[in-house]
Amino acid sequence: MSWTTPLAQRVVNLKPSPTLAVDAKAKALKAQGADIINLSAGEPDFDTPDHIKEAAIKAIKDGFTKYTPVAGILELRQAIIDKLKRDYNVGYEPDQIVVSTGGKQGLYNCLQAIVDPGTEVIIPVPYWVSYPAMVELAGGRPVLLSSRPEKDFDIDLDELSSLINDKTRALIINSPSNPTGAVYSADTLKALAQMAVEKGFYIISDDIYDEIRFDGKSPENPVSVFPEAKEHIIVANGVSKTYAMTGWRIGYLAGPQPVIKAATKIQSQSTSNPNSIAQKAALAALAGPQECVKEMVKAFKERRDYIVERLNNIKGIKCNMPQGAFYVFPDVSSFFNKSADGFEIKGSLDLADYLLEKAKVACVPGIAFGDDRFIRFSYATDKAQINEGLNRLEEALERLS
Ligand code: PMP
Ligand code: GLU
Repeated sequence: MSWTTPLAQRVVNLKPSPTLAVDAKAKALKAQGADIINLSAGEPDFDTPDHIKEAAIKAIKDGFTKYTPVAGILELRQAIIDKLKRDYNVGYEPDQIVVSTGGKQGLYNCLQAIVDPGTEVIIPVPYWVSYPAMVELAGGRPVLLSSRPEKDFDIDLDELSSLINDKTRALIINSPSNPTGAVYSADTLKALAQMAVEKGFYIISDDIYDEIRFDGKSPENPVSVFPEAKEHIIVANGVSKTYAMTGWRIGYLAGPQPVIKAATKIQSQSTSNPNSIAQKAALAALAGPQECVKEMVKAFKERRDYIVERLNNIKGIKCNMPQGAFYVFPDVSSFFNKSADGFEIKGSLDLADYLLEKAKVACVPGIAFGDDRFIRFSYATDKAQINEGLNRLEEALERLS
């Protein structure tokens, strides 16, 4: 009898994260000695600030190396509550917070907690790569809301309204956005929050880039602009991006107590508590001095100004001005149906391949975010690399005809 290793259907249909895949490929090529400029990774190039590392070292030396409560240590949950009060002027109790192994696990647990098979989750396009996959893993159906680059990727409220029905369980938003860097206005956020109350669905507000915004305003989300909707809003956040802590794996959810309790229950049966040492480091990050954040945001803003200006000077590229995060998402569709060096560019995947092979520049094709007209560059890398990457990009695009 022949035997083929059986795998669950849910994993057969699952694609690996394309952002992590491109980043891994770029890093592997670099390790083999290839001269790659990696503009793919959504990962700050800065080192984790010293006072945060010190807190982790102290935790190890103090023997803080055992299981903690599943939802995270109380001090850290309190520091998260203080941050949410400081930034959004909204109060939470410790049982409305769960700390997880990265923002990603928080989002995953949240969807597992609220999505039933047959229910729908609305996701504006372009979306962060993992949202549709996470909805599907929970048995739900992602419903895509089309994008409006000419309106700076704002949500069309009428179109959103037309997608809502009695199967709608949630809407996922991400402002500032990965991949566009767009930030929703307070008016949009308020309209979304009002709609959630009126129509009875959750908003998952992925605020992971909340501190990385360039308009000088303090962070805003649907709860801060419309606190009456608090029972409908689940805030997902983490320390990865703001404090250059991607490898430490600490994220969190804040939201209605039943949802948080459910997400904690899932966590108790899957990963248990997030790493005890990283929790102490995250506590130092959130409760400690915030100058490091201001410095990183200042550097990101300078790089943004530079990269956007250079991209818009390349014939055929159209690039919006991001208001936050550390990505640019230019429209490169004018290069489609052109070719060079044996490469035929039919869409963003071909263009990203061509750039990696021929220009040694790694970027993520827009199709991974649901819109094939674009490609994503991360500017969470130093100015010299960005400069060299853009020189190579310009030269490679000029060769296409
Ligand atoms: N949301 C968005 C939009 C992201 O870009 C990321 C980055 N990976 C995450 C969530 C999760 O971040 P992490 O798991 O590294 O905390
Ligand atoms: N969020 C980052 C990115 O979009 C890291 C990769 C990932 O977690 O998918 O590049």
